Amino acid sequence: MCRIYTQVHKPVHADPDLSSLSVRQLRARRRRLSAALADPGASLKGSLVSQMRRCGKEGCRCAQGELHGPYVYLSISRDSDRRLLYVPAELAEVVRHHVALTEQIDATLAAISAINLELLARRQLD
Ligand SMILES: [Zn+2]
Repeated sequence: MCRIYTQVHKPVHADPDLSSLSVRQLRARRRRLSAALADPGASLKGSLVSQMRRCGKEGCRCAQGELHGPYVYLSISRDSDRRLLYVPAELAEVVRHHVALTEQIDATLAAISAINLELLARRQLD
């Protein structure tokens, strides 16, 4: 019970304190992370959202509030701009997979960067 509670409230990518690791341990960790990095070619940044829509045709059931959908969209943020790209149903799973891989890649790169920052602080970056 306590365990689950702790896991839920822990940050997703909680690093153990890097400063407590030796240079050798940091490099080993960096190697493991690099080896586990998903194919960067799979990158597709965004998040999937599903929405109900009104078609606007007169007399359609959606005019009475019975909306169409749900339809899947890829939400893409760029600077302060946010756009929705329609994702056909048959592509939704593939897109979902790419988006999940991208989050993994980002998290792994951030973890590697944190290690390199620690190594740099110790003048051991190479
Ligand atoms: Zn309609």
